[in-house]
Amino acid sequence: MARAIYPGSFDPVTKGHLDIIKRSSKIMEQVTVAVLENPRKVATYNIEERVKMLMIVTDPYPNVKVDYYKGLLIDYAKNNNINIVIKGLRAMSDFEFEFQMALVNQKLSPSIETLFMMTNNKYSFLSSSIVKEIASLGGDIRSLVPPEVHEIIIGKYQT
Ligand code: ADP
Repeated sequence: MARAIYPGSFDPVTKGHLDIIKRSSKIMEQVTVAVLENPRKVATYNIEERVKMLMIVTDPYPNVKVDYYKGLLIDYAKNNNINIVIKGLRAMSDFEFEFQMALVNQKLSPSIETLFMMTNNKYSFLSSSIVKEIASLGGDIRSLVPPEVHEIIIGKYQT
């Protein structure tokens, strides 16, 4: 079995992300969920908050660990002996960007493979931005985020 990395912003983690984490943990020896610290993107939750939420929701899965990284994904992967990149696909709209990223990573590091996992159709509409949009308007996000982190997520929107 292989060691995989599941990278993303996770700003914040949703049930869609957790579904991909659970399913990949069943087929991989180890899965590192890696939060990208991207200085060009303004995040709602800081790195510590995003890592903490992921640690809480992945606690039941012994072969899943959480980390964060700056810079190139393939450098992180190589330094940590990881040979698979997992990406979730929701719709055709995800495909074009992810396809380009996978080809660039293949060019930079041919020994690392990207695997795409189809979304669970329950979550095909779900993104971190949708969660934040609904929460900011006072809507109920309980069906969209793992219950253990619901309070932390809505904490940003309560006055
Ligand atoms: P987003 O802000 O769009 O939720 P992230 O950068 O946090 O995006 O996503 C990290 C990874 O998780 C990406 O590979 C993305 O395609 C995937 N992903 C996000 N939401 C879902 C979902 N609902 N179902 C399947 N994959 C998802």
